[in-house]
Amino acid sequence: MSESAGALRLPIEPYEVTGYAFGQRVRSRKILWARHLGDDILAEPGTKVVCIGDGKVVWSEMRLGTNEKRNWGGVIIVEHTNSETGLVFYSVYGHITNLAVSQGAQVAVGDHIGDVAPGSTPENGWWKLPHLHFGIYTGPWMQKVLPGYARPFEGRTKFSWWENPKSFIEAFNQVLLNTLS
Ligand SMILES: [Zn+2]
Repeated sequence: MSESAGALRLPIEPYEVTGYAFGQRVRSRKILWARHLGDDILAEPGTKVVCIGDGKVVWSEMRLGTNEKRNWGGVIIVEHTNSETGLVFYSVYGHITNLAVSQGAQVAVGDHIGDVAPGSTPENGWWKLPHLHFGIYTGPWMQKVLPGYARPFEGRTKFSWWENPKSFIEAFNQVLLNTLS
């Protein structure tokens, strides 16, 4: 079955939220009661990560952390525009290796953009388990990589600027189908 033009797809197969889910409250020694801003999909290192839709790469960086200060590792952000509504939104892919696209590049749905990095490596940002962190951001583009968690009162990002990724994609495609029929 071919996808309808402009439709979004999920960034990894299978898409099973086996780590922290979007909106889940996370508490660790360093992250106190923050809300997770994406879905964590645990996957074998090397699992292919693809772009969810047509767009432009606005960030592609190996943001190396340390064992003491964990980080994004390889992070890519793609800007998308809904051709019907003009809504601009961003897809964020974290903890990946073999970054296959550079900043400024035009990308199409399904394009290979990187692979899940092995756990406890710089590319993975020093998290123990290999996983893709995938988020959808609708807030203002601030020319920077935002954190993967929103802490109340911290102000680096707002929870309301983020969407449940899978629900967002499903709703987006549903609207598209309704428009076409
Ligand atoms: Zn995460």
